[in-house]
Amino acid sequence: MADLQNLITHLNEQVKRKTTQISAIHIIAATIGLSLDLDVTLDTAISVVMNVVGAEAAGISLIDDTTQEVVLRAQEGWLHDFVKKSPMRVPPGQGMSGEVIRRNDAIVDNNLTEGHQFAVPRFGKERFRSIAMAPMHARGQIIGILSVMSHRADRFDDDIVETLQSIADTVGMAINNARLYEKHVENEDRLNAILQSTADGILAVDQNGRIREVNYAASRLLQMSAQSLTGTLLAESPIPNELRARLVTAMQAQAEDSDKSFRVTLESKHEIQAVISIVRMPSPVVGDKEEDGHVAVLQDITHFRDEELARAQFIQAAAHDMKNPLSVTQSSLFTLDSLLDTSDPMVQEVMTIAHAGITRLQRLIDDLMQIEKIESGYGFYREDVDLRELGYEVSAQIKPLMKDKGLHYEFQLDDNLPSALYIDREWIQRALFNYLENASKYHRPQGEVQLRIYRAEAVVRFEVVDNGPGIPRGALTRIFDRFYRVEDRRDVRGSGLGLAIVKSVAEAHNGGVYVHSQEDVGSTFGLWLPLET
Ligand code: ADP
Repeated sequence: MADLQNLITHLNEQVKRKTTQISAIHIIAATIGLSLDLDVTLDTAISVVMNVVGAEAAGISLIDDTTQEVVLRAQEGWLHDFVKKSPMRVPPGQGMSGEVIRRNDAIVDNNLTEGHQFAVPRFGKERFRSIAMAPMHARGQIIGILSVMSHRADRFDDDIVETLQSIADTVGMAINNARLYEKHVENEDRLNAILQSTADGILAVDQNGRIREVNYAASRLLQMSAQSLTGTLLAESPIPNELRARLVTAMQAQAEDSDKSFRVTLESKHEIQAVISIVRMPSPVVGDKEEDGHVAVLQDITHFRDEELARAQFIQAAAHDMKNPLSVTQSSLFTLDSLLDTSDPMVQEVMTIAHAGITRLQRLIDDLMQIEKIESGYGFYREDVDLRELGYEVSAQIKPLMKDKGLHYEFQLDDNLPSALYIDREWIQRALFNYLENASKYHRPQGEVQLRIYRAEAVVRFEVVDNGPGIPRGALTRIFDRFYRVEDRRDVRGSGLGLAIVKSVAEAHNGGVYVHSQEDVGSTFGLWLPLET
């Protein structure tokens, strides 16, 4: 009977102990889990631990990842400041800390005497008589040590040590979370600093089309504060109309590569180049689903345009000055041709080279003069032109070239075209010829080329479609610039002016040009003209 009574008392005590421990863990978790600030977490943990265990002093040490030293990070109830003033760092493996880590278990010393050899002698000045230490774990590793101290001997019994051990890991987890969070905030701050200091404007749009990030350069470029843009839907944002519309198009799921880099001129006359990329981001709602956000990089290229203009003017002037001497050289060459002994193969070769060189130079000068002519409006003669007739004429012109290259050519005409369009016949023919000539120059074996003319709402579109090598994405925004040629296609002869001429022709008619292209698949070069001119 007495035994049973004893057993019940014993069990009761055990239950009481466990309950005390569990409620201690609960109090610790509930209190220190509230903050993600590392210092606040440490301070809260220390005072709660002292309370729960009933100790007069406590300390939290963390393991330095690089040196493996045990460094005191927070203290309470001590006489001296071993955290800030004279930091306490215990070398790896030494003292009671070394013992705790080696055993990976709590230890206690309830009778520290004056002669005790501490790993850090200064610690002796605290005159603690009892000390209990427990390792703190996080993600399966010891990250530090939780200690409680008293100035009285025999202060910490097994129950207290057990409780200390069970709360140490809860404290460890909280510290680990706070550290991770701090690291995350630090990374975010660093990224933000980079984002804000880059010279390019950056606009980040989330999967719902809402603007999430606007850096300093972007807000300067758009002359709008970041606050007025952040959080708004891109489609409803106060960004200038044309730029906004093109950004929206570029971020649509069905957008093509060619929509994703473009140039626009703002009302302020600033010319902006935009390149849009997709960023996959985890869906905030659906588990393992990813959705598309977008980042637009905006650059102010006004100064490039001005330089290009100055360069174009200079070249134009040079072309003018070269035209006459070139004609004189060419006629002299013809005269020389008739005087020389052309049966000599050496003479023949030299003359052929000279003729070819002059012809190329002449073509370049002709192209330059053409651009100037269109832009000046000189000799621009509009009339009602039958588009069917125009299409057949260009086709007849280009067919021999296509046949020569072994390309399959097709001409397609829309039924509901207007009977006539008020345009300059020669210029439009020249423009289409340039597109078609390019398709024949930059082709692949057994290639196919199609010219199609069709009506789309208030415009007529002329498109040349090929399945040639396509255009690298990085070249798309510059392809219509004067003298621009794709770097790795230099083996094909050309001046880099063909597309610039098409653009000038289209603009002279209040129309425009565009290109859709994918490398190794093909290109569609388009020219649109308004129905009403
Ligand atoms: P050019 O043909 O004289 O070099 P263009 O202004 O006509 O100059 O064309 C510019 C560049 O665009 C070319 O150098 C070429 O690399 C590229 N290009 C033009 N048309 C096509 C096409 N249909 N397919 C692939 N690349 C093309």
